[in-house]
Amino acid sequence: MSDPLARALAARVPASFSELHPYVPDLASFPVRLDANEAPALLPTLRDDERAVWLAALGAVEPARYPDVRARALRHALATRLGVGDDELTIGCGSDEIIQILLATFARPANGRAPVVLVPSPSFVMYRVSARVHGYDVVDVPLDSAWDLDLDAMLAALREHRPAVVFLATPNNPTSGVFARDRVEAIIEEAARLEPPAIVVVDEAYLPFRLGPQDPWQGATGLDLRAGNPHVVVMRTLSKIGLAALRVGWLVGDPRLIGELEKARLPYDLPAYSQAAAVVALGPLAGAIERHVATIVEERARLVAALRAMSAAAPLDVGRPDGNFVWLGLGRDSAPVVRGLKERGVLVRSFAAFPTRLRVSVGTGAECARFLEAFAEVRA
Ligand code: PMP
Repeated sequence: MSDPLARALAARVPASFSELHPYVPDLASFPVRLDANEAPALLPTLRDDERAVWLAALGAVEPARYPDVRARALRHALATRLGVGDDELTIGCGSDEIIQILLATFARPANGRAPVVLVPSPSFVMYRVSARVHGYDVVDVPLDSAWDLDLDAMLAALREHRPAVVFLATPNNPTSGVFARDRVEAIIEEAARLEPPAIVVVDEAYLPFRLGPQDPWQGATGLDLRAGNPHVVVMRTLSKIGLAALRVGWLVGDPRLIGELEKARLPYDLPAYSQAAAVVALGPLAGAIERHVATIVEERARLVAALRAMSAAAPLDVGRPDGNFVWLGLGRDSAPVVRGLKERGVLVRSFAAFPTRLRVSVGTGAECARFLEAFAEVRA
C-alpha cells in the first residue's frame, strides 16, 4: 500500500484546489509598502487622549475568557451607526470570512450542477478563491473599456448561468472606480427574477473614500439598494481605514438570511481585542478615523495630480480613483517598473492578467513622494 496520506489527499481534496495557492504577499521588507490597499499607520496620528482610550480598551480585555459570541457591544455600535437592526448584521473576521460564510451557506448544488458565483473581472480575488474552495464554478464577465460593469454581458450571464451569488465591489478592486448605480440596480432586478433568485453582494470595502462632493452616487450606498430587495446584502470592513490588524468586517442583510449565516459562522471568530478596539474606533475614536480618511483622500488627490502631470511626457492612464488606490495604466510592460520600484524600496501590486498596469495604494504624503520619485526614475 502506498502512502495513505497521498491517497487521501488525491481522493478527498476537491479537484478545484489544484488551481489554488496559499495567499502569500511579498514578505521582504520594503520601507514603502503600497501593495495591499491598507491605510497608512494610524497610531502616529492619534492625540494623546485618543491613544489613551485605545490602550485602555485593549488593556481591559480579559485574555482568559472567550470573546463575546454575539459581539454585542460592537454589533450595537455598528447597528446604530448604520441605522439597521442588531439582527440585520453578521460580523466576521474581516470581509474575507464573511465571503466564506456566505458561500458556505449558499453552496447547495441545483439540478445536479455545482452552484455558480458570478463576478465581474477584474475584481477582488477572494470571491473566486472562496468560491472554488466551496465547490462553486466561477463565471467572470469582463468589465467594459471604462472599467464599469458590462450590463448586457452581466444580464446574459445571470440568465445563462443562474448564479447563487453575484459579487459587485464598488468602488472595485483593483480598478478603483465605482460602478454606475443604474447598472447595479439592473443586475439586482434581474437577480430577483431568476428562479431561484441570486443573492447580490454589494461590497463597499472602499466606501469611505468615495463619499465627497464629487461622489458619483451622491451619497447613496448599498444600504439604499436594500429597500424592497431582500436578496441584496452589503459588505463592509474596517480594514481600509486604518484598522486592518483588527480583522473586522460585516454584512448587512435581511434577518432571515443573517439567521442562516450565523449557523455557518464560527462562534469565537472575532477576537475580544478586535471587538474592544472596534468599539472605540466607532465611538470615541471616530473623529480620529475620519481625520485619517480625509488625509488619505487629500493624498490621493495629490498623487493623482502628480501622476497626471507626469503623463504629459509619456501618457499614463490614471483613471478616476474612488478607492484608496490608483489603477495606473503605463501603456507598456509594468514588470521592469515594478522591479525598479522594489530596488528603490517601494512595493506596489502588479497583475499577471494586466501586464501594463499597476495598483498603487495611497500612503502618507512622504510615502507617495517616495513612490513618485522612484517611479519617475524607473520610467525614464
Ligand atoms: N472587499 C474588497 C473589494 C477588498 O479589496 C478587500 C481587501 N483587499 C476586502 C473586501 C477584504 O477586506 P477584509 O480585510 O475585511 O477581509
